[in-house]
Amino acid sequence: MKSKFGARFLITILVSSLISIAILFATYKYSQQSLPKQALPLPTTPTSQDLSTIIDTNQTSESTDDLKAKPAHEHLGYCLHLPILMYHHIQPMKRAEANNQKGLTVEPQVFDQQLAYLLKQGYHTIGVMDLVNALKNKTTLPAKSIIITLDDGYSDNNEFALPTGEKYKFLLNFMIPTGFIDKGGYLGIKTLQAMDKSKYAAFYPHGVNHLLLAFQTDEVVNSETKNSIATLQKDLGKIDPVYTYPSGSYNDHVIDMLKNNGYVAAFSTISGATQCDSEIYSLERIRIGNYPMTTYGF
Ligand SMILES: [Zn+2]
Repeated sequence: MKSKFGARFLITILVSSLISIAILFATYKYSQQSLPKQALPLPTTPTSQDLSTIIDTNQTSESTDDLKAKPAHEHLGYCLHLPILMYHHIQPMKRAEANNQKGLTVEPQVFDQQLAYLLKQGYHTIGVMDLVNALKNKTTLPAKSIIITLDDGYSDNNEFALPTGEKYKFLLNFMIPTGFIDKGGYLGIKTLQAMDKSKYAAFYPHGVNHLLLAFQTDEVVNSETKNSIATLQKDLGKIDPVYTYPSGSYNDHVIDMLKNNGYVAAFSTISGATQCDSEIYSLERIRIGNYPMTTYGF
């Protein structure tokens, strides 16, 4: 009798443990589903007529979801939800493999499909200064606005990226390390000038020697930031003073130096799509790989 009771007791414990585990698992699954994605899709129904989402940092819980990627104590000021796509190489994967560039490569066919999808979903590109001015003046932007950036000035950007941008009427912003111009695998000055004739190409400085600014002397930071824009202006005419940090490297001192050198904004590699006036020198971007745009929250 005693052992039968003991067995029953054990079974009861076992069953209740299993139920508890199942409840815990279900709770975990549910909480995973309800977590906000890193790159939040723009709302299908804009909150105010035809305008982009304004994220008021002092507002409702729905808005604060967009800001979870940032430390809660920061005062972010005026923010807009504006996805900035980040690409590097657009080239066939066979070529990327041969040159050990797989990690930074998106296949031309995939790039084409991604832009086609964005167009079909109603997205359109805006200029970098449109975003900068909207943040500075605290104005809105049209719904489903995006910015597309391609870093490092690889020659494949002219071969594969720009024709696709033109095909879908999407403005592409090329971030150029000016010291690499005309070097093997990089865009040459003649090609840059030819690309500049397209209304779907814009150019921005990405340093001279692609140096990590957080680790440089003031002298080097000055020469990297001043000379890169000067070279582009000499060769291509007007260039808007917006920097792209090589390898996303910067600190507060670098930001101060950018300001002193006339820059009005800068692109980081911080992942996200929340752009704030208080963080205009560390605009967030979404690194795009070889997956459908739905993967990245579009
Ligand atoms: Zn770079």
